[in-house]
Amino acid sequence: MHILVERLNKIKSNINKNVNIIAVSKTFPFEDIKPLLDEGHRHFGENKVQEADAKWSDYKKENKKILLHMVGKLQSNKSKKAVELFDYIHSLDSQKLAESLSKHENMLNKKLKYFIQVNIESETQKSGIAPNLLDGFYNFCTRDLNLDVIGLMAIPPDDGKANEYFRYLYETNSSLGLSELSMGMSGDYPIALKYKSTFLRIGTLIFGKRT
Ligand SMILES: *Cc1c(COP(=O)(O)O)cnc(C)c1O
Repeated sequence: MHILVERLNKIKSNINKNVNIIAVSKTFPFEDIKPLLDEGHRHFGENKVQEADAKWSDYKKENKKILLHMVGKLQSNKSKKAVELFDYIHSLDSQKLAESLSKHENMLNKKLKYFIQVNIESETQKSGIAPNLLDGFYNFCTRDLNLDVIGLMAIPPDDGKANEYFRYLYETNSSLGLSELSMGMSGDYPIALKYKSTFLRIGTLIFGKRT
């Protein structure tokens, strides 16, 4: 068995069937991804529109089962390409971006699934909606723009308090009545699972270190 498939299977053996593993393939070339595709893995993540377009657009046209996730910061001027290419966007983080995505969904007659990115500690260098603005932003996205928001997403600070952050995200997600949750990366996914994450975003543990 290919080493990448072994690594993926090792993570799978720790989780329930209802949890999805997004193989975050950013920076890795298509040849590196191929063994996972051959094995039938469907969820892949990228963090740059241009890189994802070059890597995936041809393959995806021929292979409709692939589900592509945008996990990185998205500029609204890239939203047309993003709506064309991706199935899920995990970084819905501003009114301007939400409006632009909604406009392109309508023009392209395509619906994506969205996670609202939350900036749990309101860190200035990080994107995401501050917790006190979350209700308003959620209502705007779902009621005014009709975006299909399925859950919350966060990249919590790496300060040893992952339990606290993931619990907050789980509780907030439930209070909004949302059923999906995008949290957990290579370093903290076992903790994310304790708080019922349904989409893990795993790069390093599958592909190895990025250079
Ligand atoms: C790169 C990236 C990941 C994967 O991180 P690893 O630590 O390599 O598993 C997950 N989420 C986001 C938003 C990323 O940019």
